Amino acid sequence: MKTSSYRPTAAAISTAAIEYNTRAFRDYISPDSTLMAVVKANGYGHGAVPAAKAAIRGGATALGVAIMDEALELRNAGFTEPLLVMGYTGGEEAIRQAAAHHITLTVFSEDVQEEMLRLAPDFKEPLKIHLKVDTGMGRIGVITEEKLLKLAAPLWKEPNIYVEGIFTHFAVADQADSPYTDEQFARFQEMYQALEDAGMPAAVKHCCNSAGTMLHPDKHLDMVRVGISLYGCRPDLEMELPFPIKPAMELSTEIVSLRPLTAGSTISYGRTHTLAADRLVATLPIGYADGLPRLISNRFDADVNGAAAPVIGRVCMDQTMIDVTEIEAGLHDKVTFSIDKIADVIGTINYEIVCGISPRVPRLYD
Ligand code: PLP
Repeated sequence: MKTSSYRPTAAAISTAAIEYNTRAFRDYISPDSTLMAVVKANGYGHGAVPAAKAAIRGGATALGVAIMDEALELRNAGFTEPLLVMGYTGGEEAIRQAAAHHITLTVFSEDVQEEMLRLAPDFKEPLKIHLKVDTGMGRIGVITEEKLLKLAAPLWKEPNIYVEGIFTHFAVADQADSPYTDEQFARFQEMYQALEDAGMPAAVKHCCNSAGTMLHPDKHLDMVRVGISLYGCRPDLEMELPFPIKPAMELSTEIVSLRPLTAGSTISYGRTHTLAADRLVATLPIGYADGLPRLISNRFDADVNGAAAPVIGRVCMDQTMIDVTEIEAGLHDKVTFSIDKIADVIGTINYEIVCGISPRVPRLYD
């Protein structure tokens, strides 16, 4: 991850905030549950390695990622904690690498199960796996008890494979009053019970993401998988949180050009903004190639010295203009863009904004 640049645009990352948020989750869940820090997608744009370190300081004892490449990055960086790849892993080399590096894989389909069984006799140590159950997310996982047992039984019999866990994922955990999460949970309980009744109890049962953990304390089971809120973001901007969290990323830049422009001047590509009067216009060295969505053009206020400065004209690839006529603003003053506000204005989720801050934006760590 880039940590410096010749341009004053950066994402300041507070690892102290990540540690603080992790500890808040650790304190909230029961002592019988463990906390997995989800650090996929480069730690939701915060840097997987620093995020994982901070989360472990805060009490996380396992790490979750989406793909094998992310797991290997963490193993190569020296992390020895249990590490679960929650998405698809297939192919001989990936499975062998997982076994060799003590990386836990998710199994949800027979093709991967068959390949694992074929390779297992060669493993030097048992490969750990978690079974994935689809209780209503409609994404990955087995749906019926029959399929679950068919998937699990040969894996359970193979001495070089350890079926350690079973998990599912909630679709609307952030909706406090939806019965759907209760229905998904009840279905999950039936599924892991069927496994247990067939003599294959899973030691680690888990289903809660950040929202599930915060809003459904009755569903924490053996482990919770917390991502977005470790980074101080609400899973949903309307959601009431049971405890405070601190934002871990601040996206900022500086005013690099400050010019009075006359009434009638037009700003940026497409001439979508015309100055109605003489205005003081600041140019910022940040654009959509940095992950600042072009959709905020003409509809977003950046923050300059605590005051709102409207984005005028279209966001360009590398530059953006704001109107600073009404506020105190000087050359090289700092300008910040609220992650939540960007998400809200363009009708998306903060997850997409933090993950989309591009590699060319240096991450500056506390
Ligand atoms: N578990 C799984 C399977 C996920 O895919 C994710 C993220 O999408 C998480 C846990 C973490 O979710 P969140 O970031 O909402 O806490």
